[in-house]
Amino acid sequence: MKKISIALVGIGKIARDQHLPAIAADPRFELVACASRNASVEGVRNYPTLEALLAAEPHVEAISLSAPPLPRFAQARAALAAGKHVMLEKPPGGCLSEVRALEQMASCAGLTLFASWHSRHALGVEAARTWLATQDIRSVNVRWKEDVRRWHPGQTWIWEPGGLGVFDPGINALSIVTWIMPRELALVSSTLGIPSNRQMPISADLELFDTAGVPVHVEFDWRHGPQELWEIEVKTADGVLLLSQGGNRLHIDGREVALGAVHEYPSLYAHWRNLIERGERDVDVRPLGIVADAFLLGRREILEPFVE
Ligand code: NAP
Repeated sequence: MKKISIALVGIGKIARDQHLPAIAADPRFELVACASRNASVEGVRNYPTLEALLAAEPHVEAISLSAPPLPRFAQARAALAAGKHVMLEKPPGGCLSEVRALEQMASCAGLTLFASWHSRHALGVEAARTWLATQDIRSVNVRWKEDVRRWHPGQTWIWEPGGLGVFDPGINALSIVTWIMPRELALVSSTLGIPSNRQMPISADLELFDTAGVPVHVEFDWRHGPQELWEIEVKTADGVLLLSQGGNRLHIDGREVALGAVHEYPSLYAHWRNLIERGERDVDVRPLGIVADAFLLGRREILEPFVE
C-alpha cells in the first residue's frame, strides 16, 4: 500500500500528545518533516516555518496543521496554494469567513481539506447518534467544565481574540451535539462571563432550540475542578442518554453501552486518509457557527480578573 507522505506543523501540546503517536501508528501515512518555530521532532527533517518546509520538501503530499487557530489560516492557505491536502485542528479557524475561503481554495484545486473535530471520534459518539436518530428527544443538557489552569497552562493565545476562551474546549461539546442531534440547532440566547483583564470568556451559558422546539442548554466553565466534567445528557421519551468523559462513555437508560476501541486521533487520521483517497472534503463549520452566534448574541458579564 502506498504511504502518503505527510508533514506536521505547530509542534506543541496536541501535536506531541496526539498527532505524533496517531501518525506513527498509521501504516498509511509516513511523517517526513515537521515545521515549528521553537520545537523539533526526532527522526524527521525539521524546519522553522511552513514556507521553508514547502520550499525544501516538494514531494510532501499532505500537511496537518496543529498550531492555534489564528496562525493556522496563513499556513493552510500556503499549503493549499502549494497543492497539498490539508487537515486542520479544531476549531477550523479563528472565524467563519476564513474557513469558507479555504474550502473554496481546496475545492478549486481538487484538494482534500479536512476540518477535524476530534470529539466526534470519541468512542460513544457514533452509537449515540444512531440511537438518537429514532428517538423522541425532549431536552438536551451540556455540561462542559474544566480547570483552565490544568488544561491550558501558559497558553496566552486562548485569551486573545480568535482564541475562543472557554469555547476552545466548549466547541468540542458543540461538535458532538451538532453531530448527534437529528435536526439543526438555532441559538436564542448567550451569556458570556469575561474576566476584566481578558478578551475572551471564562464561562458561557447558551440556550438553543432545534427545529422541533427541543431545548438545548449549554454550560461551559473554566473555573471547575479538580475533576473535569465533560458530559451531554439527552432526555427522550424512552429514557436518558448520557455521554460522559468527553464522549468516550455512553449510558442509555442507566445501562452502560459497550464501545469499540479506535480512539479519537487514530480515527481522525483514518478518516482523512479515506477522504484523500476518495478525493473528498469534510468541512462542517456548524460548531464554529454556534460559537460565532454566541459572540453575536452574547450578553457580557464582566468578572474578576483572571490571574494564572
Ligand atoms: P500550543 O501547544 O499552545 O500550540 C501549538 C504550537 O503551535 C506551539 O507550540 C507553537 O510552536 C505553535 N504556535 C503557537 N503560536 C504560533 C504562532 N503565532 N505562529 C506560528 N506557530 C505558533 O497549543 P495546543 O494546545 O497544542 O493547541 C493547538 C490547537 O489544537 C488548538 O486549536 C487547540 O484547540 C487544539 N487542541 C488542543 C488540545 C489540547 O489538549 N491542548 C486538544 C485538542 C485540540 P512553535 O513555537 O514551535 O512554533
